[in-house]
Amino acid sequence: MTLTLDRALHRDLTAFRRRLHAEPELSGHEHRTHDAVLAYLHAFAPTSVVQHLGGTGLAAVFDSGVPGPTILVRAELDALPIQEVEGPAHRSTNPGVMHACGHDGHATMVAGLAPRLAAVPPSRGRVVLLFQPAEETGAGAAAVLADPRWPALEPDAAIALHNLPGHPMGQVILREGVFSCASRGMSVGLEGITSHAAHPDDGVSPAEAIAELVQRMPKLPAECLPDSFGLVTITHIRAGKDAVFGVTPAEGRFNATLRTDTDQDLSTLSNAAETLLAEIAGANRLPFETTWHDEFAAAVCDPETVALVRAAANDLGLDTIDRDKPFRWSEDFGLFTRGRRGVLFGLGSGESQPQLHNPDYDFPDELIAVGARIFMRTARDLLG
Ligand SMILES: [Zn+2]
Ligand SMILES: [Zn+2]
Repeated sequence: MTLTLDRALHRDLTAFRRRLHAEPELSGHEHRTHDAVLAYLHAFAPTSVVQHLGGTGLAAVFDSGVPGPTILVRAELDALPIQEVEGPAHRSTNPGVMHACGHDGHATMVAGLAPRLAAVPPSRGRVVLLFQPAEETGAGAAAVLADPRWPALEPDAAIALHNLPGHPMGQVILREGVFSCASRGMSVGLEGITSHAAHPDDGVSPAEAIAELVQRMPKLPAECLPDSFGLVTITHIRAGKDAVFGVTPAEGRFNATLRTDTDQDLSTLSNAAETLLAEIAGANRLPFETTWHDEFAAAVCDPETVALVRAAANDLGLDTIDRDKPFRWSEDFGLFTRGRRGVLFGLGSGESQPQLHNPDYDFPDELIAVGARIFMRTARDLLG
């Protein structure tokens, strides 16, 4: 894989990526990252820039002035609450926070389209470069879509990628239909009554209900989605207070992540989980409350747009593979594919690259040119 950009551009983008890596910010707090992207884009005079979009996101519009479609290219800005191990010179200077998902690289690829769009403007329509906040929590895409300035940016097609460690560098991973799963976090609070530990029957403990939830929730997908993929993963359980031996617990918590191939299956599984919870809590005389978190829609790729990415990859001499199943992880880009043409594709970031969210992950700079070139070619093809 020897795709390159103009040398000066590659040097600037590499420096930009490393700067983002050194100054990571958590979801919804990407203030300096917002300003760094804004400053970079400024030099290439976009037609307009929408700042603080959905909180700490921004969008740069390159408008041809000629009627035509709007093509959205989306990147993410947020880092993760992970302590980076001793690593490169550009390692995180923000303790406990690091770019372990490569969003520094994704943002750089999309920023790297600005000089190209400035040099060769779109022939018709518009290209919108979107830098969204808070992808890791699933809140950012929703916040962008809820921003009152969003309707003016509404695209006809949306494209995005995620780098994928474990795949050869530069390999393009495609799937028609669902690319990544829908998921949501279920958080259940149970509120019983304490009692003396010598007389547990005088209280109402959530312990048995939690034990039953732990046993039965993971079996739900097989019951309510016998013919499709579903997964319930327990992420946290708790009852009572640590280091207390004389009191039975009153308060308990059960958290799980629900995951399916489609948004419709996710609502089926969620309803089944709420029914089971009500049954178990009722049998144990436990009042409860449920809240839902980290909501991700399935990312759905339309075949025509997938074909354009495939053609771009082929022309650039990149290897492509098609996945037979969706990825189990979720990407909030799924919201941008709802009711719109769109594609999310994977870009191999090396077979020996540490996995995403590992503390020794670092986005490989040689991918910047590859992602930027696939994006540029696909966006121009979509403009027609
Ligand atoms: Zn991530
Ligand atoms: Zn990511």
